[in-house]
Amino acid sequence: MPHSRKDFIIKSGIALGAVTVGLPSKFKLLSFSNKQENKLVLLGTKGGPVVHSYKAGPSANVIVYNNIPFVIDTGYGVSFKLVEAGVALKDLKYIFITHHHSDHNLELGNLLYNSWVGGLSASIHVFAPVGLIALLQAYWQSNHFDIETRITDEGRPDIRKLVITHEYTEGIILLNNDAEVSALKNIHPPVTESYAFKFKLGNKTVVFSGDTTYCPALAAFALDADYLIHEVAYGPAIDALVIRRDNAPKLKASILSHHTLAEDVGKIAAQAKPKTLVLNHFVPADDESITDEMWTKAVRTNFSGNIIVGKDMLQLPL
Ligand SMILES: [Zn+2]
Ligand SMILES: [Zn+2]
Repeated sequence: MPHSRKDFIIKSGIALGAVTVGLPSKFKLLSFSNKQENKLVLLGTKGGPVVHSYKAGPSANVIVYNNIPFVIDTGYGVSFKLVEAGVALKDLKYIFITHHHSDHNLELGNLLYNSWVGGLSASIHVFAPVGLIALLQAYWQSNHFDIETRITDEGRPDIRKLVITHEYTEGIILLNNDAEVSALKNIHPPVTESYAFKFKLGNKTVVFSGDTTYCPALAAFALDADYLIHEVAYGPAIDALVIRRDNAPKLKASILSHHTLAEDVGKIAAQAKPKTLVLNHFVPADDESITDEMWTKAVRTNFSGNIIVGKDMLQLPL
């Protein structure tokens, strides 16, 4: 069910939260047991799609604000990480995807599915760049048998009608009583549709860089944010990574053309002046010889403010 962005912004103030579908009582499962604190939880902090360890999964985050979860990216493992963070999957309402690399969207379909079989009864809004509608159509097709069976056999609502897709471009993509969310195109070749996000929630601002090389526009976009969640790459480790390859110079140039060196993250943060800079989407992610102090020291060459080295399941207050 595609909706235009304009349509959504105009209508959302009154329509959101009002769309519910009647369910047999057996599907009215436990809701949020208690009101949750407002918080940001890093669910998956490694860069890239290769799965190494549950301790550091591909990209995923959740903000819980006024008891509403906002999921940002759905890398592999996001469903279990959300459960672990205390978020009931059936209560999901908003999902935002920065770009269509698999370390950011691989579990989108499965997350929606897990929400559905967990008792989802209201609309769930998914925001992603162009390609979202085709991605979900293919996903529904691949699970056609099970979806039809559960609708008929178990009396569930049609998941395909509960999911509202929004293929966004740059600008404000959500504006209602829940939040103001805007997108900024970042620099992540060869992906052209790749974005940073800014969440304004009450008097709090949280900015996600998404995957990007050094992107000066991000500094103004993130100005004075409470949290700037920025991806990061470690130069010396990339040298070590590529040194044995014949195409080393080209490979290094390729990595740096779409990711940001720690020193350059420091430059962005020095201009944006966030209350806290949170490092995230580590490249490389599996080199344990790079300590937290090494990541921090590299950023410190240009930034003297608060720095947190992100970890999966790290909770930050909002
Ligand atoms: Zn990525
Ligand atoms: Zn990417």
